[in-house]
Amino acid sequence: MRNRKYKLTTLLTGLILTSVLLITVFLLFASYQFEKKSLTETYLTLNYSKSEKISQSVNSLSKSMRSSLQEITKFLSENPEMTSREIQEHLELLKNNNRYFNSLTWIDETGLVRNIAPVNVGIQGDYVTGVIKEAVDSKKPMLTPPFSGLTGRIIVLMSEPFYDAKGNYRGIIGGSIFLQEQNVLNEILGNDIVDQNGSYYYVVGPDGKLLFHPNLNRIGDRVKGNQVISKLIQGQSGMERVVNTKGVPMLAAYSYIPEIGWGVVQQTPVSYVEELLKKHIQKLLATIFLPFLILLFLSISFARKLAKPFIDLADVVNQFGSDKPIQPPKFQSHWNREADLLTKSLIIAISAVEKNKNKLVEEAMTDSLTHLPNRRKLTEVVNKLSKDKQQFSLIVLDIDHFKSINDTYGHQIGDEVLKFMAETVQSVISQKDVFFRYGGEEFILVLPHLNSNEAYLIAETIRTTIANKISPMGKPITVSLGISEFPSHTESLKDLFLFADKALYESKSKGRNFVTIWQGNTSK
Ligand code: GH3
Ligand code: MG
Ligand code: MG
Repeated sequence: MRNRKYKLTTLLTGLILTSVLLITVFLLFASYQFEKKSLTETYLTLNYSKSEKISQSVNSLSKSMRSSLQEITKFLSENPEMTSREIQEHLELLKNNNRYFNSLTWIDETGLVRNIAPVNVGIQGDYVTGVIKEAVDSKKPMLTPPFSGLTGRIIVLMSEPFYDAKGNYRGIIGGSIFLQEQNVLNEILGNDIVDQNGSYYYVVGPDGKLLFHPNLNRIGDRVKGNQVISKLIQGQSGMERVVNTKGVPMLAAYSYIPEIGWGVVQQTPVSYVEELLKKHIQKLLATIFLPFLILLFLSISFARKLAKPFIDLADVVNQFGSDKPIQPPKFQSHWNREADLLTKSLIIAISAVEKNKNKLVEEAMTDSLTHLPNRRKLTEVVNKLSKDKQQFSLIVLDIDHFKSINDTYGHQIGDEVLKFMAETVQSVISQKDVFFRYGGEEFILVLPHLNSNEAYLIAETIRTTIANKISPMGKPITVSLGISEFPSHTESLKDLFLFADKALYESKSKGRNFVTIWQGNTSK
Protein backbone atom coordinates (compact mmCIF):
# COMPACT_ATOMS: atom_id res chain seq x y z
CA MET A 1 0.00 0.00 0.00
CA ARG A 2 1.46 3.27 -1.11
CA ASN A 3 -0.46 5.41 1.35
CA ARG A 4 0.38 3.36 4.37
CA LYS A 5 1.84 5.50 7.17
CA TYR A 6 4.41 4.03 9.50
CA LYS A 7 5.09 5.05 13.06
CA LEU A 8 8.36 6.89 13.63
CA THR A 9 9.37 4.30 16.23
CA THR A 10 8.67 1.52 13.75
CA LEU A 11 10.67 3.29 11.06
CA LEU A 12 13.64 3.97 13.34
CA THR A 13 13.55 0.47 14.77
CA GLY A 14 13.26 -0.97 11.28
CA LEU A 15 16.15 1.13 10.07
CA ILE A 16 18.38 0.12 12.96
CA LEU A 17 17.32 -3.53 12.71
CA THR A 18 18.10 -3.59 9.00
CA SER A 19 21.47 -1.90 9.53
CA VAL A 20 22.45 -4.23 12.35
CA LEU A 21 21.37 -7.28 10.35
CA LEU A 22 23.12 -6.12 7.19
CA ILE A 23 26.33 -5.37 9.08
CA THR A 24 26.18 -8.75 10.80
CA VAL A 25 25.61 -10.56 7.53
CA PHE A 26 28.39 -8.58 5.91
CA LEU A 27 30.80 -9.32 8.77
CA LEU A 28 29.88 -13.01 8.69
CA PHE A 29 30.41 -13.07 4.95
CA ALA A 30 33.74 -11.23 5.23
CA SER A 31 34.86 -13.53 8.02
CA TYR A 32 33.79 -16.55 5.96
CA GLN A 33 35.72 -15.36 2.92
CA PHE A 34 38.79 -14.51 4.96
CA GLU A 35 38.72 -17.82 6.81
CA LYS A 36 38.17 -19.71 3.58
CA LYS A 37 41.15 -18.07 1.93
CA SER A 38 43.35 -18.60 4.95
CA LEU A 39 42.30 -22.25 5.41
CA THR A 40 42.79 -22.97 1.71
CA GLU A 41 46.25 -21.45 1.79
CA THR A 42 47.12 -23.29 4.99
CA TYR A 43 46.07 -26.68 3.61
CA LEU A 44 47.77 -26.07 0.26
CA THR A 45 50.98 -25.13 2.06
CA LEU A 46 50.72 -28.07 4.44
CA ASN A 47 50.12 -30.41 1.52
CA TYR A 48 53.01 -28.93 -0.39
CA SER A 49 55.46 -29.45 2.45
CA LYS A 50 54.20 -33.02 2.80
CA SER A 51 54.52 -33.76 -0.92
CA GLU A 52 58.03 -32.31 -0.85
CA LYS A 53 58.93 -34.55 2.06
CA ILE A 54 57.53 -37.61 0.35
CA SER A 55 59.29 -36.80 -2.88
CA GLN A 56 62.57 -36.47 -1.01
CA SER A 57 62.02 -39.87 0.60
CA VAL A 58 61.17 -41.41 -2.76
CA ASN A 59 64.18 -39.76 -4.36
CA SER A 60 66.64 -40.95 -1.73
CA LEU A 61 65.05 -44.39 -1.91
CA SER A 62 65.60 -44.52 -5.64
CA LYS A 63 69.23 -43.52 -5.15
CA SER A 64 69.76 -46.33 -2.64
CA MET A 65 68.06 -48.77 -4.99
CA ARG A 66 70.21 -47.61 -7.87
CA SER A 67 73.42 -47.97 -5.88
CA SER A 68 72.45 -51.44 -4.68
CA LEU A 69 72.06 -52.49 -8.34
CA GLN A 70 75.42 -50.87 -9.14
CA GLU A 71 77.03 -52.91 -6.37
CA ILE A 72 75.73 -56.10 -7.94
CA THR A 73 77.06 -55.26 -11.42
CA LYS A 74 80.38 -54.29 -9.87
CA PHE A 75 80.58 -57.54 -7.92
CA LEU A 76 79.66 -59.64 -10.97
CA SER A 77 82.25 -57.97 -13.22
CA GLU A 78 84.89 -58.40 -10.54
CA ASN A 79 84.03 -62.11 -10.22
CA PRO A 80 83.80 -63.38 -13.80
CA GLU A 81 84.50 -66.97 -12.77
CA MET A 82 81.13 -67.31 -10.98
CA THR A 83 78.90 -70.08 -12.26
CA SER A 84 75.27 -69.55 -13.12
CA ARG A 85 74.33 -71.35 -9.92
CA GLU A 86 76.62 -69.11 -7.85
CA ILE A 87 75.13 -66.00 -9.46
CA GLN A 88 71.64 -67.32 -8.69
CA GLU A 89 72.63 -67.86 -5.06
CA HIS A 90 74.16 -64.39 -4.91
CA LEU A 91 71.00 -62.76 -6.27
CA GLU A 92 68.83 -64.80 -3.87
CA LEU A 93 71.00 -63.70 -0.97
CA LEU A 94 70.83 -60.05 -1.96
CA LYS A 95 67.12 -60.25 -2.66
CA ASN A 96 66.56 -61.59 0.85
CA ASN A 97 68.92 -59.12 2.54
CA ASN A 98 67.81 -55.91 1.00
CA ARG A 99 64.16 -55.30 0.71
CA TYR A 100 64.31 -52.80 -2.12
CA PHE A 101 63.14 -55.11 -4.85
CA ASN A 102 60.54 -57.81 -5.15
CA SER A 103 62.81 -59.62 -7.56
CA LEU A 104 66.39 -59.38 -8.84
CA THR A 105 67.31 -60.63 -12.28
CA TRP A 106 70.13 -60.90 -14.78
CA ILE A 107 68.92 -60.56 -18.34
CA ASP A 108 71.70 -60.95 -20.87
CA GLU A 109 72.34 -58.81 -23.93
CA THR A 110 70.06 -61.05 -26.05
CA GLY A 111 67.10 -60.55 -23.72
CA LEU A 112 67.37 -64.00 -22.15
CA VAL A 113 66.47 -64.20 -18.47
CA ARG A 114 69.62 -65.88 -17.12
CA ASN A 115 68.82 -65.70 -13.45
CA ILE A 116 65.90 -64.46 -11.38
CA ALA A 117 65.46 -64.39 -7.62
CA PRO A 118 63.14 -65.57 -6.30
CA VAL A 119 63.09 -68.40 -8.73
CA ASN A 120 59.37 -68.88 -8.34
CA VAL A 121 58.69 -65.84 -10.47
CA GLY A 122 59.09 -68.50 -13.10
CA ILE A 123 60.46 -66.68 -16.12
CA GLN A 124 64.04 -68.05 -16.05
CA GLY A 125 64.98 -69.06 -19.59
CA ASP A 126 62.36 -66.82 -21.16
CA TYR A 127 63.15 -64.00 -23.54
CA VAL A 128 61.93 -60.58 -22.49
CA THR A 129 60.06 -58.16 -24.72
CA GLY A 130 58.64 -54.65 -24.62
CA VAL A 131 60.00 -52.10 -22.20
CA ILE A 132 62.45 -54.59 -20.64
CA LYS A 133 63.91 -55.43 -24.02
CA GLU A 134 64.23 -51.68 -24.66
CA ALA A 135 66.07 -51.34 -21.35
CA VAL A 136 68.43 -54.18 -22.37
CA ASP A 137 69.06 -52.65 -25.77
CA SER A 138 69.59 -49.11 -24.39
CA LYS A 139 72.67 -50.20 -22.41
CA LYS A 140 71.88 -47.37 -20.00
CA PRO A 141 70.55 -47.13 -16.42
CA MET A 142 66.75 -47.19 -16.79
CA LEU A 143 63.58 -46.96 -14.74
CA THR A 144 60.63 -48.27 -16.70
CA PRO A 145 57.09 -47.04 -16.47
CA PRO A 146 54.65 -49.51 -14.93
CA PHE A 147 54.00 -52.48 -17.18
CA SER A 148 52.23 -55.78 -17.00
CA GLY A 149 54.77 -58.52 -16.54
CA LEU A 150 54.64 -62.05 -17.98
CA THR A 151 53.10 -63.15 -14.71
CA GLY A 152 50.35 -60.50 -14.94
CA ARG A 153 51.78 -58.35 -12.18
CA ILE A 154 52.08 -54.60 -12.54
CA ILE A 155 55.77 -53.98 -12.33
CA VAL A 156 58.32 -51.18 -12.40
CA LEU A 157 61.79 -52.23 -13.34
CA MET A 158 65.01 -50.44 -12.40
CA SER A 159 67.91 -51.64 -14.53
CA GLU A 160 71.67 -51.15 -14.49
CA PRO A 161 73.84 -52.10 -17.50
CA PHE A 162 76.31 -54.88 -16.79
CA TYR A 163 79.77 -55.06 -18.42
CA ASP A 164 82.19 -57.93 -17.75
CA ALA A 165 85.84 -57.43 -16.78
CA LYS A 166 86.85 -57.25 -20.47
CA GLY A 167 84.35 -54.50 -21.08
CA ASN A 168 81.84 -56.67 -22.98
CA TYR A 169 78.17 -55.71 -22.55
CA ARG A 170 76.42 -58.56 -20.75
CA GLY A 171 72.89 -57.22 -20.49
CA ILE A 172 71.24 -55.71 -17.41
CA ILE A 173 70.82 -56.36 -13.73
CA GLY A 174 67.23 -55.50 -13.06
CA GLY A 175 65.34 -54.96 -9.82
CA SER A 176 61.59 -54.98 -10.00
CA ILE A 177 58.91 -53.58 -7.76
CA PHE A 178 55.56 -55.37 -7.76
CA LEU A 179 53.41 -52.29 -7.34
CA GLN A 180 50.30 -54.04 -6.04
CA GLU A 181 52.11 -56.21 -3.52
CA GLN A 182 54.07 -55.55 -0.37
CA ASN A 183 56.96 -53.50 -1.73
CA VAL A 184 59.56 -50.94 -0.80
CA LEU A 185 57.36 -48.01 -1.80
CA ASN A 186 54.50 -48.86 0.47
CA GLU A 187 56.95 -49.86 3.19
CA ILE A 188 58.56 -46.41 3.11
CA LEU A 189 55.43 -44.38 2.39
CA GLY A 190 53.28 -46.34 4.81
CA ASN A 191 49.87 -47.84 4.54
CA ASP A 192 47.81 -45.29 6.48
CA ILE A 193 47.96 -42.82 3.67
CA VAL A 194 44.46 -41.48 4.14
CA ASP A 195 44.24 -38.95 7.00
CA GLN A 196 41.27 -38.45 9.27
CA ASN A 197 40.42 -35.33 7.32
CA GLY A 198 40.37 -37.29 4.05
CA SER A 199 43.78 -36.12 2.84
CA TYR A 200 45.86 -38.65 0.89
CA TYR A 201 48.70 -38.82 -1.53
CA TYR A 202 49.72 -40.78 -4.58
CA VAL A 203 52.74 -41.15 -6.83
CA VAL A 204 52.72 -41.09 -10.64
CA GLY A 205 55.32 -42.15 -13.14
CA PRO A 206 56.60 -40.04 -16.04
CA ASP A 207 53.77 -41.25 -18.29
CA GLY A 208 51.08 -40.31 -15.77
CA LYS A 209 50.47 -43.86 -14.63
CA LEU A 210 49.81 -44.44 -10.94
CA LEU A 211 52.71 -46.09 -9.09
CA PHE A 212 51.35 -45.68 -5.64
CA HIS A 213 47.76 -44.95 -4.58
CA PRO A 214 45.57 -45.70 -1.55
CA ASN A 215 43.34 -47.63 -3.93
CA LEU A 216 45.46 -50.60 -5.03
CA ASN A 217 43.17 -51.31 -7.97
CA ARG A 218 44.07 -48.05 -9.58
CA ILE A 219 47.80 -48.75 -9.62
CA GLY A 220 49.09 -48.87 -13.17
CA ASP A 221 46.13 -46.80 -14.43
CA ARG A 222 46.81 -43.66 -16.34
CA VAL A 223 45.28 -40.58 -14.64
CA LYS A 224 43.27 -38.68 -17.21
CA GLY A 225 41.98 -35.14 -17.34
CA ASN A 226 43.78 -33.96 -14.23
CA GLN A 227 45.70 -30.74 -14.75
CA VAL A 228 48.00 -31.53 -11.82
CA ILE A 229 49.22 -34.69 -13.55
CA SER A 230 49.76 -32.81 -16.82
CA LYS A 231 51.91 -30.32 -14.93
CA LEU A 232 53.86 -33.07 -13.15
CA ILE A 233 54.56 -34.78 -16.50
CA GLN A 234 55.92 -31.45 -17.70
CA GLY A 235 58.22 -31.40 -14.67
CA GLN A 236 56.42 -28.74 -12.64
CA SER A 237 55.77 -28.54 -8.89
CA GLY A 238 53.13 -26.40 -7.23
CA MET A 239 49.75 -26.27 -5.51
CA GLU A 240 46.21 -25.58 -6.65
CA ARG A 241 42.60 -26.49 -6.38
CA VAL A 242 41.65 -29.36 -8.70
CA VAL A 243 38.76 -31.66 -9.34
CA ASN A 244 39.93 -35.26 -9.11
CA THR A 245 38.99 -38.15 -11.41
CA LYS A 246 35.92 -38.88 -9.33
CA GLY A 247 34.76 -35.27 -9.60
CA VAL A 248 35.67 -34.38 -6.01
CA PRO A 249 37.24 -30.93 -5.57
CA MET A 250 40.62 -31.16 -3.87
CA LEU A 251 43.31 -28.85 -2.54
CA ALA A 252 46.32 -30.48 -4.20
CA ALA A 253 50.06 -29.91 -3.88
CA TYR A 254 52.45 -31.69 -6.25
CA SER A 255 56.19 -32.23 -6.30
CA TYR A 256 58.19 -33.44 -9.25
CA ILE A 257 61.24 -35.65 -8.69
CA PRO A 258 63.57 -34.76 -11.60
CA GLU A 259 66.01 -37.64 -10.99
CA ILE A 260 63.43 -40.33 -11.74
CA GLY A 261 60.69 -38.32 -13.45
CA TRP A 262 58.11 -39.31 -10.86
CA GLY A 263 55.64 -37.00 -9.18
CA VAL A 264 54.01 -36.95 -5.75
CA VAL A 265 50.55 -35.48 -5.19
CA GLN A 266 49.25 -34.76 -1.70
CA GLN A 267 45.66 -33.54 -1.51
CA THR A 268 42.85 -32.66 0.90
CA PRO A 269 39.17 -32.66 -0.03
CA VAL A 270 37.72 -29.14 -0.24
CA SER A 271 34.71 -30.50 1.65
CA TYR A 272 36.92 -30.86 4.74
CA VAL A 273 37.82 -27.17 4.61
CA GLU A 274 34.14 -26.37 4.10
CA GLU A 275 33.32 -28.41 7.19
CA LEU A 276 35.87 -26.38 9.18
CA LEU A 277 34.35 -23.18 7.78
CA LYS A 278 30.89 -24.25 8.82
CA LYS A 279 32.12 -24.88 12.35
CA HIS A 280 33.87 -21.51 12.33
CA ILE A 281 30.69 -19.70 11.32
CA GLN A 282 28.64 -21.59 13.90
CA LYS A 283 31.12 -20.62 16.60
CA LEU A 284 31.07 -17.02 15.40
CA LEU A 285 27.27 -16.96 15.45
CA ALA A 286 27.23 -18.37 18.96
CA THR A 287 29.74 -15.74 20.05
CA ILE A 288 27.93 -12.76 18.55
CA PHE A 289 24.41 -13.88 19.44
CA LEU A 290 24.25 -12.28 22.90
CA PRO A 291 26.04 -9.03 21.94
CA PHE A 292 23.74 -8.89 18.91
CA LEU A 293 20.65 -9.13 21.12
CA ILE A 294 22.00 -6.51 23.51
CA LEU A 295 22.84 -4.18 20.64
CA LEU A 296 19.39 -4.71 19.20
CA PHE A 297 17.71 -4.01 22.52
CA LEU A 298 19.79 -0.86 23.06
CA SER A 299 19.07 0.31 19.52
CA ILE A 300 15.36 -0.16 19.88
CA SER A 301 15.19 1.66 23.20
CA PHE A 302 17.31 4.41 21.69
CA ALA A 303 14.87 4.62 18.75
CA ARG A 304 11.96 4.88 21.16
CA LYS A 305 13.65 7.62 23.18
CA LEU A 306 14.50 9.52 20.02
CA ALA A 307 11.00 9.18 18.61
CA LYS A 308 9.16 10.00 21.84
CA PRO A 309 9.28 13.83 21.69
CA PHE A 310 8.12 13.73 18.06
CA ILE A 311 5.27 11.37 18.91
CA ASP A 312 4.25 13.69 21.76
CA LEU A 313 4.38 16.65 19.39
CA ALA A 314 2.30 14.79 16.82
CA ASP A 315 -0.28 14.02 19.54
CA VAL A 316 -0.42 17.71 20.45
CA VAL A 317 -0.76 18.77 16.80
CA ASN A 318 -3.55 16.21 16.44
CA GLN A 319 -5.60 18.18 19.00
CA PHE A 320 -5.74 21.18 16.64
CA GLY A 321 -8.78 19.73 14.90
CA SER A 322 -10.83 19.36 18.09
CA ASP A 323 -12.92 22.03 19.87
CA LYS A 324 -11.24 21.46 23.20
CA PRO A 325 -8.45 23.75 24.31
CA ILE A 326 -5.09 22.40 23.16
CA GLN A 327 -2.91 20.99 25.92
CA PRO A 328 0.58 22.26 25.17
CA PRO A 329 3.33 19.61 25.52
CA LYS A 330 5.19 19.66 28.81
CA PHE A 331 8.66 20.90 28.06
CA GLN A 332 11.25 18.27 28.83
CA SER A 333 14.75 18.99 27.74
CA HIS A 334 15.78 16.41 25.12
CA TRP A 335 19.26 15.57 23.90
CA ASN A 336 18.06 15.84 20.32
CA ARG A 337 18.35 19.47 19.22
CA GLU A 338 15.46 19.35 16.71
CA ALA A 339 13.15 17.73 19.26
CA ASP A 340 14.04 20.48 21.72
CA LEU A 341 13.52 23.29 19.22
CA LEU A 342 10.27 21.87 17.88
CA THR A 343 8.82 21.40 21.35
CA LYS A 344 9.72 24.95 22.35
CA SER A 345 8.30 26.38 19.10
CA LEU A 346 5.11 24.39 19.45
CA ILE A 347 4.61 25.58 23.03
CA ILE A 348 4.97 29.18 21.87
CA ALA A 349 2.69 28.60 18.87
CA ILE A 350 0.01 26.91 20.97
CA SER A 351 -0.05 29.67 23.58
CA ALA A 352 -0.37 32.25 20.76
CA VAL A 353 -3.17 30.26 19.13
CA GLU A 354 -4.95 29.83 22.47
CA LYS A 355 -4.69 33.55 23.23
CA ASN A 356 -6.07 34.37 19.78
CA LYS A 357 -8.81 31.82 20.14
CA ASN A 358 -9.83 33.21 23.55
CA LYS A 359 -9.84 36.70 22.11
CA LEU A 360 -12.04 35.60 19.20
CA VAL A 361 -14.42 33.76 21.50
CA GLU A 362 -14.58 36.84 23.73
CA GLU A 363 -15.28 39.00 20.68
CA ALA A 364 -17.89 36.61 19.37
CA MET A 365 -19.71 36.84 22.67
CA THR A 366 -19.53 40.63 23.06
CA ASP A 367 -21.68 43.29 21.49
CA SER A 368 -19.43 45.73 19.75
CA LEU A 369 -21.54 48.82 20.39
CA THR A 370 -22.26 48.53 24.11
CA HIS A 371 -19.50 46.08 24.98
CA LEU A 372 -22.14 44.05 26.82
CA PRO A 373 -22.17 40.27 26.49
CA ASN A 374 -24.49 39.32 23.65
CA ARG A 375 -27.22 36.78 23.04
CA ARG A 376 -24.71 33.99 22.41
CA LYS A 377 -23.20 34.51 25.85
CA LEU A 378 -26.70 34.75 27.35
CA THR A 379 -27.57 31.31 26.04
CA GLU A 380 -24.41 29.92 27.59
CA VAL A 381 -25.12 31.55 30.98
CA VAL A 382 -28.78 30.51 31.28
CA ASN A 383 -28.02 27.01 30.03
CA LYS A 384 -25.48 26.63 32.80
CA LEU A 385 -27.84 27.99 35.48
CA SER A 386 -30.65 25.71 34.33
CA LYS A 387 -28.33 22.74 34.20
CA ASP A 388 -27.24 23.49 37.78
CA LYS A 389 -30.94 23.75 38.79
CA GLN A 390 -30.11 27.18 40.08
CA GLN A 391 -32.90 29.62 40.88
CA PHE A 392 -32.69 32.89 38.93
CA SER A 393 -34.86 35.68 37.49
CA LEU A 394 -34.92 37.11 34.01
CA ILE A 395 -35.71 40.77 33.26
CA VAL A 396 -36.39 41.84 29.67
CA LEU A 397 -35.91 45.58 28.99
CA ASP A 398 -37.08 47.44 25.93
CA ILE A 399 -36.62 51.16 25.29
CA ASP A 400 -39.89 52.91 24.80
CA HIS A 401 -40.50 54.54 21.41
CA PHE A 402 -36.95 53.99 20.35
CA LYS A 403 -37.93 54.18 16.72
CA SER A 404 -39.02 57.76 17.15
CA ILE A 405 -35.75 58.60 18.96
CA ASN A 406 -33.93 57.35 15.90
CA ASP A 407 -36.25 59.18 13.63
CA THR A 408 -36.05 62.42 15.55
CA TYR A 409 -32.38 62.52 16.59
CA GLY A 410 -30.76 60.23 14.10
CA HIS A 411 -29.15 56.80 14.38
CA GLN A 412 -25.96 58.09 15.91
CA ILE A 413 -27.83 59.53 18.90
CA GLY A 414 -29.83 56.29 18.96
CA ASP A 415 -26.56 54.40 19.32
CA GLU A 416 -25.42 56.78 22.06
CA VAL A 417 -28.73 56.13 23.86
CA LEU A 418 -28.05 52.36 23.66
CA LYS A 419 -24.59 52.86 25.19
CA PHE A 420 -26.08 55.15 27.85
CA MET A 421 -28.61 52.41 28.68
CA ALA A 422 -25.85 49.80 29.11
CA GLU A 423 -23.75 52.02 31.38
CA THR A 424 -26.72 53.14 33.51
CA VAL A 425 -28.02 49.63 34.13
CA GLN A 426 -24.56 48.29 34.89
CA SER A 427 -24.05 51.04 37.46
CA VAL A 428 -27.09 49.97 39.48
CA ILE A 429 -26.81 46.15 39.40
CA SER A 430 -24.51 44.01 41.57
CA GLN A 431 -21.52 42.07 40.37
CA LYS A 432 -23.14 38.65 40.28
CA ASP A 433 -25.90 39.94 37.96
CA VAL A 434 -25.23 39.84 34.23
CA PHE A 435 -26.61 42.35 31.72
CA PHE A 436 -26.89 41.39 28.06
CA ARG A 437 -27.78 43.15 24.84
CA TYR A 438 -30.38 40.81 23.41
CA GLY A 439 -30.66 42.57 20.07
CA GLY A 440 -31.78 45.99 18.79
CA GLU A 441 -32.91 48.10 21.74
CA GLU A 442 -33.83 45.05 23.82
CA PHE A 443 -31.74 44.03 26.83
CA ILE A 444 -31.85 41.12 29.29
CA LEU A 445 -30.73 41.03 32.88
CA VAL A 446 -30.03 37.68 34.54
CA LEU A 447 -30.22 37.70 38.34
CA PRO A 448 -28.90 34.49 39.91
CA HIS A 449 -30.38 33.37 43.25
CA LEU A 450 -33.12 36.02 43.09
CA ASN A 451 -36.85 35.36 42.91
CA SER A 452 -39.18 37.51 40.81
CA ASN A 453 -40.12 39.75 43.72
CA GLU A 454 -36.50 40.56 44.48
CA ALA A 455 -36.03 41.06 40.74
CA TYR A 456 -38.98 43.44 40.75
CA LEU A 457 -37.19 45.74 43.20
CA ILE A 458 -34.17 45.89 40.99
CA ALA A 459 -36.31 46.42 37.91
CA GLU A 460 -38.01 49.32 39.60
CA THR A 461 -34.64 50.84 40.55
CA ILE A 462 -33.55 50.60 36.92
CA ARG A 463 -36.76 52.02 35.59
CA THR A 464 -36.72 55.03 37.95
CA THR A 465 -32.99 55.68 37.54
CA ILE A 466 -33.38 55.85 33.75
CA ALA A 467 -36.53 57.84 33.85
CA ASN A 468 -34.76 60.45 35.98
CA LYS A 469 -31.49 60.69 34.09
CA ILE A 470 -30.73 62.93 31.13
CA SER A 471 -29.95 60.70 28.14
CA PRO A 472 -27.79 61.64 25.10
CA MET A 473 -30.84 63.00 23.36
CA GLY A 474 -31.00 65.76 25.99
CA LYS A 475 -33.82 64.45 28.13
CA PRO A 476 -34.62 61.20 29.95
CA ILE A 477 -35.88 58.13 28.14
CA THR A 478 -38.13 55.47 29.56
CA VAL A 479 -37.95 51.69 29.49
CA SER A 480 -40.51 48.93 29.92
CA LEU A 481 -39.59 45.71 31.76
CA GLY A 482 -40.96 42.15 32.03
CA ILE A 483 -39.90 39.55 34.64
CA SER A 484 -39.99 35.75 34.77
CA GLU A 485 -38.52 33.35 37.32
CA PHE A 486 -36.74 30.02 36.97
CA PRO A 487 -37.74 27.38 37.80
CA SER A 488 -40.97 28.32 39.64
CA HIS A 489 -42.61 29.86 36.53
CA THR A 490 -41.30 27.24 34.14
CA GLU A 491 -38.41 24.81 33.79
CA SER A 492 -38.29 25.44 30.05
CA LEU A 493 -35.87 28.16 29.03
CA LYS A 494 -37.84 28.81 25.86
CA ASP A 495 -40.98 29.48 27.93
CA LEU A 496 -39.02 31.52 30.44
CA PHE A 497 -38.06 33.98 27.69
CA LEU A 498 -41.60 33.90 26.28
CA PHE A 499 -43.12 34.64 29.71
CA ALA A 500 -40.75 37.58 30.35
CA ASP A 501 -41.59 38.89 26.88
CA LYS A 502 -45.31 38.59 27.59
CA ALA A 503 -44.82 40.46 30.84
CA LEU A 504 -42.93 43.15 28.88
CA TYR A 505 -45.82 43.39 26.42
CA GLU A 506 -48.07 43.82 29.42
CA SER A 507 -45.91 46.76 30.60
CA LYS A 508 -46.05 48.31 27.11
CA SER A 509 -49.79 47.94 26.95
CA LYS A 510 -50.15 49.52 30.36
CA GLY A 511 -48.62 52.71 28.93
CA ARG A 512 -44.89 51.95 29.06
CA ASN A 513 -42.31 53.00 31.76
CA PHE A 514 -43.63 50.06 33.73
CA VAL A 515 -42.47 46.77 35.34
CA THR A 516 -44.51 43.56 35.10
CA ILE A 517 -43.92 40.10 36.67
CA TRP A 518 -45.33 37.23 34.67
CA GLN A 519 -48.38 35.86 36.50
CA GLY A 520 -49.68 32.96 34.44
CA ASN A 521 -52.49 34.23 32.21
CA THR A 522 -52.93 37.34 34.32
CA SER A 523 -49.92 39.56 34.85
CA LYS A 524 -49.45 42.02 37.75
P1 GH3 B 1 -41.96 50.50 21.58
O1 GH3 B 1 -42.11 51.54 22.65
O2 GH3 B 1 -43.22 49.79 21.27
O3 GH3 B 1 -40.88 49.52 21.92
O4 GH3 B 1 -41.57 51.28 20.32
P2 GH3 B 1 -40.24 51.25 19.54
O5 GH3 B 1 -40.17 52.32 18.58
O6 GH3 B 1 -39.08 51.10 20.47
O7 GH3 B 1 -40.48 49.90 18.77
P3 GH3 B 1 -39.62 48.96 17.80
O8 GH3 B 1 -39.14 47.76 18.54
O9 GH3 B 1 -40.52 48.70 16.65
O10 GH3 B 1 -38.47 49.79 17.28
C1 GH3 B 1 -37.14 49.43 17.48
C2 GH3 B 1 -36.25 50.28 16.69
O11 GH3 B 1 -34.93 50.21 17.15
C3 GH3 B 1 -36.17 49.92 15.24
C4 GH3 B 1 -34.73 50.19 14.84
O12 GH3 B 1 -34.63 51.26 13.95
C5 GH3 B 1 -34.08 50.62 16.11
N1 GH3 B 1 -32.82 50.00 16.32
C6 GH3 B 1 -32.60 48.63 16.49
N2 GH3 B 1 -31.28 48.43 16.68
C7 GH3 B 1 -30.63 49.67 16.64
C8 GH3 B 1 -29.28 50.09 16.78
O13 GH3 B 1 -28.34 49.28 16.96
N3 GH3 B 1 -29.04 51.43 16.68
C9 GH3 B 1 -30.00 52.34 16.45
N4 GH3 B 1 -29.72 53.64 16.36
N5 GH3 B 1 -31.27 51.95 16.29
C10 GH3 B 1 -31.63 50.66 16.42
MG1 MG C 1 -38.20 46.67 20.65
MG1 MG D 1 -38.72 49.59 21.96
